[in-house]
Amino acid sequence: AKYTKDAILQMAEEEDVEFIRLQFTDMFGTLKNIAVTSSQLEKALNNQCMFPGSSVEGFSDDETDLYLHPDLDSFVILPWRPQQGKVARLICDVHMADGTPYGGCTRSVLKNFLKKARKMGYYFYIGPECEFFLFQTDDNGMPTTNTLERAGYFDLGPIDMGENARRDMVLTLEDMGFEVESSYHEVAPGQHEIDFHWAKGVSAADSLMTFKFAVRTIAKRHGLHATFMPKPKTGVPGSGMHLNFALYDKEGNNVFYDENDPLKLSDKAYYFIGGLLAHIKGMSAVTNPLINSYKRLVPGYEAPVYEAWSTRVKSSLIRIPPARGSQTQIELRSPDPASNPYLALTICLAAGLDGIQKKLQPPKPVNKEVDKMTAEEKEQFHISALPSTLGEAIAELEKDGFVRKVLGEEFVQRYLEAKKAEWKEYMPQVTDWEVDKYLYRI
Ligand code: GLU
Ligand code: MG
Ligand code: MG
Repeated sequence: AKYTKDAILQMAEEEDVEFIRLQFTDMFGTLKNIAVTSSQLEKALNNQCMFPGSSVEGFSDDETDLYLHPDLDSFVILPWRPQQGKVARLICDVHMADGTPYGGCTRSVLKNFLKKARKMGYYFYIGPECEFFLFQTDDNGMPTTNTLERAGYFDLGPIDMGENARRDMVLTLEDMGFEVESSYHEVAPGQHEIDFHWAKGVSAADSLMTFKFAVRTIAKRHGLHATFMPKPKTGVPGSGMHLNFALYDKEGNNVFYDENDPLKLSDKAYYFIGGLLAHIKGMSAVTNPLINSYKRLVPGYEAPVYEAWSTRVKSSLIRIPPARGSQTQIELRSPDPASNPYLALTICLAAGLDGIQKKLQPPKPVNKEVDKMTAEEKEQFHISALPSTLGEAIAELEKDGFVRKVLGEEFVQRYLEAKKAEWKEYMPQVTDWEVDKYLYRI
């Protein structure tokens, strides 16, 4: 561990920290917090701060008293808050009164899974690539889907009008301890991407939560609204959260690398891909959790639609980036930034490990754009399609006993209940598109 309780108390004192935000993540990936003043910090560090669990979406009504257990190493001062009477945050696990982790705490779900993986001798690193849009706000400060710019991939200012906001985001993230690898304008007007260095299991998911929080906050300071909605606009690309996985053994060797293989991939790399492909349908309701998620997964926008892997085609569901040796990675391109990163990482890693354990050989790589293949070709390569709606994804999750077991039956029941309600609410909606299309002629 980086920090002890005493070190945190001392830092808080020296840095003039007045408020501490005790953060946790709900089942659906929303960041929540309870703020305490520094007078309560010691109590918080002793895991004695509690909240009524029944008021958090997805948490059970029976859990009236839940306790926040701060992760000491997550202590960070929020750079955008006042510099006198500073605000710091601690990321917390949610525990029950008896001290055991609460089943609805997704951070604990990921931690438990990683513990199992470590016992098997595997250490996971994840490099996320998160895309987002910056939109104008209206006169009331409410978000719109308008952007004044017309910039595209890799453009710079003055065409890229998000440049200053993005610079500020990157510097803020660095202040908070991120190693930002690159940041740039994405394909669609108003769309951006910031990539940070890969991190170990839980800290990768923590970083994603912090990243979204910081990006939204800084955007607001620039009079803009940052959104991680997967497909905010029809007809332009959506925002993905590609996940690059690397797996190491105890000695620090990259498990995915084998210099003697034609593609320089190990058997375990192939099995990991096999595992991802075997469970991708059942995982979709987690990695792509919204009605809107499925509007991103359509042909023509570099988002995956079919279940194929490739060393060459960029838009494939699974892509193997060219780096080898200790840098060998497997990139999964279907997840979107609306997903709960703790759940998404748990289920992706679990699926990959399942592939390794069961030696699931994937089909041949497809180095051709699947969108352009005929139905016969797709059949020949055994390529099926990802779920095309949240409704389909829900049905697939219900069918995949492995995914349900990894996340926990009770947890999945509650998750499904919420997702089914969302689908049921959406289905009877009469959309603007329908009115526009049918009202006049029918
Ligand atoms: N925006 C694309 C997606 O929805 C990805 C573009 C890229 O490859 O960076 O996944
Ligand atoms: Mg991108
Ligand atoms: Mg990518």
